[in-house]
Amino acid sequence: MKAEIIAVGTELLLGQIINTNAQFLSQGLADLGIDVYFQTVVGDNAGRLTQAIHTARTRADLILFTGGLGPTQDDLTKDTLAADLGRALVVHEPSMAKIEALFASRGAKMVESNRRQALMIEGCEPLANETGLAVGNALTVGDTHYVLLPGPPREMKPMFTGPTTAWLRRIMGDELPLFSRQLRFAGIGESSLEAAILDLIEGQSDPTIAPYAKEGEVALRISTKARTAAEAHERIDATVSQISERLKQFMYAQDDIPIEEAVIRLLRNSMRTLASAESCSGGLLAEAITSIPGSSSEFKGGMVTYTNEMKHRVLGIPMSQLEGPGAPGAVSESTAAMMAERIRELSGTDFGISITGVAGPAECEGKAVGLVYVGLAQKGRETEVHTLQLSGNRGIIRLRAVKAAFYRLWQRLMETSGHTGMKVPD
Ligand code: ATP
Ligand code: MG
Repeated sequence: MKAEIIAVGTELLLGQIINTNAQFLSQGLADLGIDVYFQTVVGDNAGRLTQAIHTARTRADLILFTGGLGPTQDDLTKDTLAADLGRALVVHEPSMAKIEALFASRGAKMVESNRRQALMIEGCEPLANETGLAVGNALTVGDTHYVLLPGPPREMKPMFTGPTTAWLRRIMGDELPLFSRQLRFAGIGESSLEAAILDLIEGQSDPTIAPYAKEGEVALRISTKARTAAEAHERIDATVSQISERLKQFMYAQDDIPIEEAVIRLLRNSMRTLASAESCSGGLLAEAITSIPGSSSEFKGGMVTYTNEMKHRVLGIPMSQLEGPGAPGAVSESTAAMMAERIRELSGTDFGISITGVAGPAECEGKAVGLVYVGLAQKGRETEVHTLQLSGNRGIIRLRAVKAAFYRLWQRLMETSGHTGMKVPD
């Protein structure tokens, strides 16, 4: 099935809001195995909306609208489509009752325009809106399926994942459902990953293998259409083992989780703890790990020792190490090692991790932008320092440095916990 998304709203054309609805819907439709061929944006104008509908009909089987289901005069999506299809608008009684009850409870006077949100195109299936007032519409006329959803994302999203998805599955009928699995990688770039499995990507049409970039990481989506989940899993497993044979050391999960979550799971499983000392990443590593609920059992804390003075006063790194003639400097292998060791000792954790480098835009200590050292200290083991040459702007370098640090810790945890594959225990 081919789909087109029409986002309605002059605000979108004026650049006042971003069309995040189209992004959300495209992802959701891809998950259902529906191909989105076009995304259109049109203003709150009946004539141009009609034009957009006519164009979409020539190239899509399914047209999804967002926006313009509200009470005001510029909300005209339903009226325009109804007029174009030659259908009337009728009242959806449960929505009308809900709107009336709401106004009654507030003691407010209801005006005619409020009733508009309870209208639907004759013959459609109403899509319940639990978080708002405007009822959604789903209908099929001729060969074309139409779905109308409101603009506010907090209304549109649950309506899509709930009643719209159920309706779409029904109209897809005997089209087999799509099953997919996400493989997550760290420590490898998108192009190297693709190069390593290019023959698999090109040679296979089922399951399909689609690479895509996540925030500072890369992922592959393996998808297949099958009658049952078991059948799909078997086919996906076979593809995964081919990929894993080549990329095992980078593949940290078969699940949609960031590397920091894989790290937390491994720490939890082996009952070990971590602390961090960050310089150029400014606390980003601590931020990433503490966004995982319950991570306090594993992550004891982190310090941002941004200046040399703080590295000296808090971590006790000698000033002679950090500056002055012949000093290795803050951005150096030996400083990274000391930072990791000192934070580990101070916090009494099993692991200490450090990041120090040049995030740019200007070089520092005569060292090039993108040079980053990641230190990894572990109780009873020699401290390891990894030298990275990262590219990108300041934000990207900082993010990549953090992801690289997690990757190194993940590798260590895999090695010391005796795992050989990428299976991340829950
Ligand atoms: P309302 O009842 O709020 O008027 P509506 O269905 O009429 O809802 P619009 O008036 O088009 O929708 O948009 C309402 C709000 O929803 C916008 O101000 C914006 O915040 C958000 N919105 C609309 N369209 C989009 C979109 N494509 N992407 C993200 N947000 C959107
Ligand atoms: Mg509106």
